[in-house]
Amino acid sequence: MGSVDRFNRHINYLRVAITDRCNLRCFYCMPHKGVVQYAHSEILTYEEILRIVQTAAKIGFNKVRLTGGEPLVRRGIHELVQRLSGIPEIDDLAMTTNGVYLDQTAERLFHAGLKRINISLDTLNPVKFYRITRTDKFNTVWKSISTAESTGFAPIKINVVVIRGVNDDEIGTFARLSLGKPYAIRFIEYMPIGCDNDWRPERFMSVSEIKARVETISTLQPVPQTHVDGPAERYRFASGRGEIGFIGAISRHFCRSCNRLRLTPDGTLRPCLMLDEEIDVKTPLRKGCTAQDLETLFHQAIALKPKRPPVPLCNSMGSGRMMSRIGG
Ligand code: SAM
Ligand code: SF4
Repeated sequence: MGSVDRFNRHINYLRVAITDRCNLRCFYCMPHKGVVQYAHSEILTYEEILRIVQTAAKIGFNKVRLTGGEPLVRRGIHELVQRLSGIPEIDDLAMTTNGVYLDQTAERLFHAGLKRINISLDTLNPVKFYRITRTDKFNTVWKSISTAESTGFAPIKINVVVIRGVNDDEIGTFARLSLGKPYAIRFIEYMPIGCDNDWRPERFMSVSEIKARVETISTLQPVPQTHVDGPAERYRFASGRGEIGFIGAISRHFCRSCNRLRLTPDGTLRPCLMLDEEIDVKTPLRKGCTAQDLETLFHQAIALKPKRPPVPLCNSMGSGRMMSRIGG
């Protein structure tokens, strides 16, 4: 399924960043103050996003994730979800959110057709939450996770970016959460991506090191991969209700199985998270291009996917965009 690229990878997953705006300011993603936002006219409309996803569906994409910025700050999001979930070829529609507005929107999103959700939460300590996100929304996010669970979202994945000296002391606490709760805790390597990530080598922690810490609690049993897993290596504790995943975005080089393209809020297709080479689809769309023209642009973007990014680990890969303008 999907279009095949030069390296025989099946590209079937589109990550759609629907906005660059966010109600948090995670220090590893956005600057605290002075964020320059796109004007509304620069951002793709829902109609445009829909047309782009329909084109993707026609050429074999079946998996879409809404992200941002914070997707839930954009008005009318449930209408977009409803329309996307009506595209027959898209059989996996998911969202990554910081959870701040999820408590109040979960029910509506669920009924609009969203079934899978990833909630980003890097700490279980409200004071540290403030340090990381520069806001005091910990309790709101924590409540949203329970609301998502009671609404029926499954699986609920919790994304934890591990940063040495910031939250590595909570690896065990997060891992233990999977014992009593049906959550998939996903430890993600801190990436030096974007122009404002505050990345430093000494803060980086590889998934091998993170996993070794988790294994001091109890033995991890591998969980078989499914087609919607992506790059996470999945495990569970024998007595756990949930799971623990490891995403070695930097150390594990999962480029070989990369199946994704990214659509940025301002309407470009980005073939690789770590490279700034992009294909503009908004301008042709606004000039009245045909469905066939859009398909061609998709094929051009797929053809640009590199075997692996040519840059070594440094502190600003793909430095032209903040992560909030790429979508993670
Ligand atoms: N605002 C939403 C959220 O935070 O879930 C969606 C957008 S956010 C850019 C998507 C994911 O990227 C989040 O899980 C976030 O933690 C992750 N992310 C952002 N910057 C990162 C970085 N420098 N390294 C690793 N993950 C990062
Ligand atoms: Fe916002 Fe998500 Fe970036 Fe945090 S990681 S600043 S919540 S876009």
